[in-house]
Order: sequence, then C-alpha cells, then structure tokens
Amino acid sequence: MDVSGDIIKAIAGSSRPLVVCDVDEVVLEFLDPFDRYLNSVEHRLHPDSFRLHGNIRSISGGIAASDDRVAEMQEAFFASQDKWQSPAPGVVDVLNRLARDADIVFLTAMPPRHQDVRRTVLDMHGLTYPMIATEEPKGPVVASLIGGRDVPAVFIDDILRNHGSVRDSAPDCLLIHLMVNAVFRKMLPKAEEHIVVAEDWADAERVIRRHLGIAADY
Ligand SMILES: [Mg+2]
Repeated sequence: MDVSGDIIKAIAGSSRPLVVCDVDEVVLEFLDPFDRYLNSVEHRLHPDSFRLHGNIRSISGGIAASDDRVAEMQEAFFASQDKWQSPAPGVVDVLNRLARDADIVFLTAMPPRHQDVRRTVLDMHGLTYPMIATEEPKGPVVASLIGGRDVPAVFIDDILRNHGSVRDSAPDCLLIHLMVNAVFRKMLPKAEEHIVVAEDWADAERVIRRHLGIAADY
C-alpha cells in the first residue's frame, strides 16, 4: 500500500491550513539521544562542526569513526530509536493546539525501513499525525500536499538544503528554521532572509499562527 499517496490524497482534499514538520531535531530530539547511543558503544559526538563524519570519535582513543562505522552506528540508532528519542520541549502541546485548526503532516527523510519504529515513537507521545518517510527531495512532496489549494502552508526543518527544495517547489509556503539542539544550532550557516528562524516551539507557534491566520485560543 502506498501510504504516502493516501496521505497526500487526504490532505489535498482538506480546506484547512497546512503545517509540514520534519522530525529529527524538530519534533524529536536527535543529536542528544544519538550521542547517548554513541556513548553506549564507546563513542562520543564532538560538536566541533555541523557534521557527524569526523566528529564521532572513540571514547578511549579519540579515534574518528570511519564512514562505514558511522553509517553502521546511525543504522543501529534508528533501528532502536524508540529506546533513545523523545519529543522536543513543547512540541506535543503546540502541535495538539494547532491541530484544532490546521492539518499537521510529518515529513521525515528516514529510510522507509525504519518507518514503523518511528511511527511507534511518535504515537507513544500522542503525536499521531500522518507521516511520510522518504529520501526524495522534500519540495515536491510539500507541493503535492498543498496540491494547488489556496490555503496557507508552513514547512519546518533544521536542514537548510530542505528549505531550498521547498522554496523551489512550493514558493508560497512559509519556511521556518528550527533546530532543537542549541550547541549545533550555533554552527549552522546563517539562514537566508526569506527563512524565519525560530528559537524553540513557543517561538515557532507564534510565527505559525500569524502566517496561518489562527489566533491563540489558550
Ligand atoms: Mg531534521
């Protein structure tokens, strides 16, 4: 069954505003839990720059893990993410409030083989909104979700490349940059002017409500 196709069909038939959220470092914490996982296999993530490769080093010898080893550790982490990952501060309440007036969709760049365990983590925390897991560029997916409707839409992600993709495919969609981890956030290149930078979910909620024309009702 093509789950993504069903989700796109259901959302594209709605008349409500749209909120598309990335998952890692936006809805679920990623870097801190990944570091805790790495510690369990005698490694550590050093916040020396905005990348994983080269910054994952063995605890005992400080030796950088090879690309293959990094890929292996990421695979093991995502396969057991339900043991490590938890929601970003404030996200559960903010999304549950917004869902009264807007459609929420999770758009995660996770390989589809990890989709079930990711779904389990989100559901465990009451984040039961539809999820699309794909390694394709995000812009065309967001454009399909909007489907030419005249509804306001926002896209929230921590990776600037994804914002570029959405800008190209869905130019009217408001782009919000949100990265939960403050240490790595400081190392990011400055976001382009048309991208709104949110510090946290309280900040993001204000920006989203303003763009979608939804007054705070709490
Ligand atoms: Mg992310």
